[in-house]
Amino acid sequence: MSLIEFASLGSGSKGNATLVKAEDTIIMIDCGFTVKETEIRLASLGVEPSQVTAVLVTHEHGDHIKGAAPFARRYKIPVYMTYGTARAKSLETHQQLALICSHEPFKVGALSIQPVIVPHDAQEPVQFVVKYQNKRLGVLTDLGSYTPYVVNHYKQCDALLLECNHDLTMLRYGPYPPSLKQRVAGNYGHLNNQQAAQFLKQVDQDRLQHLVVSHVSEQNNQVDLALDELVQVCARGRDWIKVANQDEGFSWLSIL
Ligand SMILES: [Zn+2]
Ligand SMILES: [Zn+2]
Repeated sequence: MSLIEFASLGSGSKGNATLVKAEDTIIMIDCGFTVKETEIRLASLGVEPSQVTAVLVTHEHGDHIKGAAPFARRYKIPVYMTYGTARAKSLETHQQLALICSHEPFKVGALSIQPVIVPHDAQEPVQFVVKYQNKRLGVLTDLGSYTPYVVNHYKQCDALLLECNHDLTMLRYGPYPPSLKQRVAGNYGHLNNQQAAQFLKQVDQDRLQHLVVSHVSEQNNQVDLALDELVQVCARGRDWIKVANQDEGFSWLSIL
């Protein structure tokens, strides 16, 4: 039986990229690293750049889009994004561009993808739920708050990459200037650990095979603080929860 598998090239404010694989299709969700760094990180996961079927970009922030267009151009693969994201980076005429509608599902090879609009301070940001046969992987980062619409799309997932960006106390007393603290903590910024735990309470945890903590701020959070919040609402133990870090992401996980 074929499986859906996923892995991360790295996650955090210095760059994000997630791989999802089923049959001979491999998509890369976001490409926030330079082309060279992307190639190195792909190699460590056993993937040739030419095996990547498509790049999907969630929004125009540098930690998600930096390498997307150059990588797509070099390897002649399509790069999918909303019109708002393309316009924000003047990519409307990029040769490899495939525009998506922010609420309509689309297919890339063996994978079906549902974009989900999220509250974040970008032009037309989306996150993605990836489906293969009856399995669903939810990738959910870069949202300042979650809406009933977001919960509806993510509550039945078999695996979830969930943003735990900051600890509110660390952010408050941390090094960011006041305006940036307000932005990060705001409704269009990033999810804090408590919000991530509140979100987790609303999904069907019986169905979840993997939970991966993602987009953890190096300045304003610690993995242990995120886990402290999540274990309070998670039926499974602390050791079950995985972490996508900035330097290495995480290696392949299978959804059975
Ligand atoms: Zn980000
Ligand atoms: Zn962002």
